[in-house]
Amino acid sequence: MISVQEAQSIIRAGVNPLGAETVALPNALHRVLAEDPAARIAHPAYTVSAMDGYAVSSKDITSSPKALLVIGESAAGHPYPGALESGQAIRIFTGAHLPVGADTIVIQEDTDREGDTVIIKEIESGRHIRPMGQDFRRGDTLLMSPVRIQPRHIGLLSAGDRPWIKVYRRPRVAILSTGDEIVLPGEPRTANQIVSANGPALSAFVKQKGGDPVHLGVVKDDESALIAIANAAKNCDLIVTSGGVSVGDYDLVRKAFGQAGLDVSFHKIAMRPGKPLMFGHLEDTPMLGLPGNPVSALVCALLFLGPALDRLQGLPGNTPAITLAELGSDIKANGDREDYMRAVLSSNRNGTITATPSFAQDSSMIGALANSSALIIRPIGSTAARTGDLVQVLLLDGLL
Ligand code: AMP
Ligand code: MG
Repeated sequence: MISVQEAQSIIRAGVNPLGAETVALPNALHRVLAEDPAARIAHPAYTVSAMDGYAVSSKDITSSPKALLVIGESAAGHPYPGALESGQAIRIFTGAHLPVGADTIVIQEDTDREGDTVIIKEIESGRHIRPMGQDFRRGDTLLMSPVRIQPRHIGLLSAGDRPWIKVYRRPRVAILSTGDEIVLPGEPRTANQIVSANGPALSAFVKQKGGDPVHLGVVKDDESALIAIANAAKNCDLIVTSGGVSVGDYDLVRKAFGQAGLDVSFHKIAMRPGKPLMFGHLEDTPMLGLPGNPVSALVCALLFLGPALDRLQGLPGNTPAITLAELGSDIKANGDREDYMRAVLSSNRNGTITATPSFAQDSSMIGALANSSALIIRPIGSTAARTGDLVQVLLLDGLL
């Protein structure tokens, strides 16, 4: 049995980035940037006022209060056509062009208006101006690949006038559940069958990570059926199976995929839940064999499938970020497998986060996982820990 960390680095090394494609900006959300896009316009595009008030020349105002003649206005999208001269002011609004001859905005609150005259009560030379290109200039690199594009990145790319963008291609991920007892939700079933949790959850996970799930349904515990589907899945970018990788008489995935040409890199890791995890290559296609128990399948998806999907999309394939939390109850010493305990997080008034282990740690209990918000990581051989001790946690929201 290899460690979780060894397994992760084998997967990282065994999965290569796919090619890129150009997509319309709105479709780039959660995709991974495959170029270093340059701005096609500066931001601000021209020097503008940051406030509502009056554009003045600071040289004009040697003492205050000072009366100036208001000769016109500059509004966003509607610049004042002329230039400012001595003794004059221009009414101005946020985002409007700074008029020629002006170097300062006096905010409305520091003025009194009487007809065509504005009284400047206070001035701070050079204030409330946003120079052209203050945020970025035309030609500046806006973002550096690889970055998984979030709404704030869409805002930046849009402001830089990039209506299209190059991103890594979506990985096509074959998802296959195995087991004579498994049916899909809503399908007719006998009294001896259960409804799949893994296939639909893994599809959702792949989608959330920017992949395209290819639904290969449920395959019986039958060697020739498994060989046939293994051959059908070869054209995908990644193959993910669930179930049938343990040591039982009907765990035929390794054998059948082996017949189809699977080259196994590892099988079994020192982890709970998820011990029978398998990884290899079917010709050039990486294959991840997840355990059948839903909690094992999904925790392994978080720790191994997620980084593999990131790698296919040009990211380094890092493992999810770890945070520290205080234990909400005592826990026993851990044995020879790294343990990922289902836990519920709470935070108190001063912001301290507490992780309380769930009573239900059985790897079949999808209910306990779904109602958890974190996993407490218990390294191999860790000693018993008490309420209030700091432990490492993986936050589930947004990830699993
Ligand atoms: P296996 O690894 O095939 O021996 O399966 C381990 C346990 O997980 C068994 O109790 C299976 O019934 C269950 N299981 C396997 N596949 C799924 C699935 N897709 N959804 C829910 N449970 C499953
Ligand atoms: Mg099975």
